[in-house]
Amino acid sequence: TGRPDEDLLAGLNAPQREAVTYRGAALLIVAGAGSGKTSVLTRRIASLLRTREAWPSQILAITFTNKAAGEMRERVQQLVGDTAQGMWISTFHSACVRILRREAEQFGFTKSFTIYDSGDSRALIKRLVKEHEADAFGLTPASVQSRISKLKNELADAESYGRSANMSDPAERLFVEIFGDYQRALQKANAFDFDDLIAQTVYLFRAFPHVADVYRRRFRHILVDEYQDTNHAQYALIHELTRPPSGAAADRFESGGMMIFDAPPAASPELSGASLTVVGDSDQSIYAFRGADIRNISEFERDYPGAKVVLLEQNYRSTQTILSAANAVIGNNFDRKDKKLWTDVGAGEKIVGFTGYSQHDEAQFVADEVETLRKAGVDYAGMAVFYRTNSQSRALEEIFIRSAVPYKIMGGTKFYDRAEIKDALAYLVAVANPADELAVRRILNKPRRGIGDVTETAIARFAAEEGISFRDALANASALGVGPKIQKAIAHLDAVLVEATAIMLPASGEVAPPTAVTDGLNVLLGKSGYLDALRISKDPQDEARVENLDELVAVTREFARNNPDGTLLDFLTEVALVSDADDLDDATGSVSLMTLHTAKGLEYDAVFLTGVEEDLLPHRISAGEPGGPQEERRLFYVGITRARKRLHLSLAMTRAQFGEVTVAMPSRFLQEIPHDLIDWRQSPGDVNSRGGMQSRALNARRPGGGFGGSGSGGNRYGDELVPLPQRDRPASDISKFANRIPAKVRDNSDLELAAGDRIRHEDFGEGRVDMVTGEGAKRIAHVRFDSAGPKKLLIKIAPISKL
Ligand code: ATP
Ligand code: MG
Repeated sequence: TGRPDEDLLAGLNAPQREAVTYRGAALLIVAGAGSGKTSVLTRRIASLLRTREAWPSQILAITFTNKAAGEMRERVQQLVGDTAQGMWISTFHSACVRILRREAEQFGFTKSFTIYDSGDSRALIKRLVKEHEADAFGLTPASVQSRISKLKNELADAESYGRSANMSDPAERLFVEIFGDYQRALQKANAFDFDDLIAQTVYLFRAFPHVADVYRRRFRHILVDEYQDTNHAQYALIHELTRPPSGAAADRFESGGMMIFDAPPAASPELSGASLTVVGDSDQSIYAFRGADIRNISEFERDYPGAKVVLLEQNYRSTQTILSAANAVIGNNFDRKDKKLWTDVGAGEKIVGFTGYSQHDEAQFVADEVETLRKAGVDYAGMAVFYRTNSQSRALEEIFIRSAVPYKIMGGTKFYDRAEIKDALAYLVAVANPADELAVRRILNKPRRGIGDVTETAIARFAAEEGISFRDALANASALGVGPKIQKAIAHLDAVLVEATAIMLPASGEVAPPTAVTDGLNVLLGKSGYLDALRISKDPQDEARVENLDELVAVTREFARNNPDGTLLDFLTEVALVSDADDLDDATGSVSLMTLHTAKGLEYDAVFLTGVEEDLLPHRISAGEPGGPQEERRLFYVGITRARKRLHLSLAMTRAQFGEVTVAMPSRFLQEIPHDLIDWRQSPGDVNSRGGMQSRALNARRPGGGFGGSGSGGNRYGDELVPLPQRDRPASDISKFANRIPAKVRDNSDLELAAGDRIRHEDFGEGRVDMVTGEGAKRIAHVRFDSAGPKKLLIKIAPISKL
């Protein structure tokens, strides 16, 4: 009865309904966290399909991560059934790859192009910086890479930037040269870096209107989630796609281009531009450092005249306490439209605050609370711990392991960043895209075949002289002027690549079997000797590497199962686009640990926001950036608003970071939360007055559980405080060390020292710490002894105690 999409509207509030049902050229949904923006977007897609206003193939929905895309697709499928096939629901990057694979030939690439992740592009830039001897001018690979990335996000290329740059400055001139060389090297390698995927698609659309028209006719409804974090290039892409088709020479193109339609395009010659729906929250814009531009939201009404604006104000995620804290914090940002979120679920629990003496103490609090909540019936999977920087996870992990709390790190060192995985992928790329010199060079001497720099240079020279690719030069081992052993090694590598190519890329007309990628990978890793080299190695790490490669082979099998027609290129594309937030899937049954940036868009019953300290949150790098502290406040706001029922805010008074122990100050953001919302289990004040701290530290200590090599269980810190709680530390760990440590030496791994501390050394007497450098086991204290003068001490083993 009624509208075919009536049931989709059930349970929605009035503005949400309007957002689902409004039909017009442009719709902007602005709303605070947890107000149902993503839910509304999903229902809007379902409604368009249900009412038959759109074919699935006419919908393009953009999400921030591949995982979010998968969830949205699933949700739409639940709502409308299988008709959802053929929709494009993806990230900006995935959508652009699909377009570029189809159109690359239009502008000098082939469809088998490689996608360089930031590690790949860093390697290339490093080589160029070296070739140009640019470090003498203060240009580091890191700085060059981030500048190029920023420029590409603004759609600038080397030429356009060069015209506006101050070319009398030699460093600028050099930068422009490297930028240009970098771009040429990418083109030669038939490769795009991550920023190119967007920027080159925009370029393609602008340079070839008949190509753009194909997509303008196809996508009649474009929807973008998290619009506040789009950068200029992404904005321009959407703008290009929503223009009316220009009608430029369409027929000339359509013979080739029409194949992409899985439904007939609307045939009207005077087609208007696609309808555009964007949703966002300018208070959650946290990617300005990567070029995101909030103005894309604030100027939406100017760019799309007549746009409808819908505001959502009811929050369905969090308790009133959590919302009040979030509202109060974000209210301190100026230059924003005030919007007040409300909820009708009631006040809920107070926010829990805790101040640890050290980051270990803080971590112990988190682990203890997690267990308490678990016993109270909250699933591990419903809990998450957030931090500002990746390195903060280590202290948490240590305690979680000791306390046997199951956890999963999101982001961090990613599977695909491991060296052996990159090697294996380079083998695959060398097959898929032989023009990719970086990939071929990478595998040249992996495993070791005696091919060194000299041979590599000889191959490059031969390729240049003959005007052939680096890869093709390998097929001419005997002409390279290298010794017979090396000739043989090169010829062998070439033969392995040829064999794998025959498996994975059969001659035209033939169809590769679904197992092709798996079989090819096995040939590459097996016959190249790569796996054998790891297997006979005595390095215990190599065992783990073999396991990781097994895992990669398993990934190819799973890929084949999910994509029976998937090609090697499809596989490499999928792998290249896996992003930080995307290994969230197997988080069931474990606590999720992640940075605040990764947390965007997610929600958890209980959230622990750790390290709420000055210099961390707001992070010290933000201090010098215009708008930096405000962006940090938005990040804090994002963190708070992930919590559904319980929020914990914690900090540590001392924190060892970058090899230094620093005294931390509570974050200014804590002051911004009304005091009566927080129940402090241990406030910063408690810790400052030694009494409070002392009692907790002593409570946390186990009888006889002294830590470190002295074996006495005594006090190696020189005072009565034991900052590292000892719960559940396996005894074997300690004795293993104690036996190996000679009399005057001890294991001071966790001794927290900072400039200004007074210490006593068993031989040198008393002195003052000037500074601490290095990290982990290599931390060094620079000490000025009262009588013995200045000395450098390896903290881990020096016979010292803090006074
Ligand atoms: P964020 O800004 O964090 O991305 P959001 O605005 O996208 O948040 P959603 O994730 O869509 O918000 O919704 C937050 C929660 O509220 C979800 O659990 C969702 O299912 C629920 N929700 C949204 N609308 C309603 C509603 N009308 N009735 C009940 N629950 C709702
Ligand atoms: Mg959302």
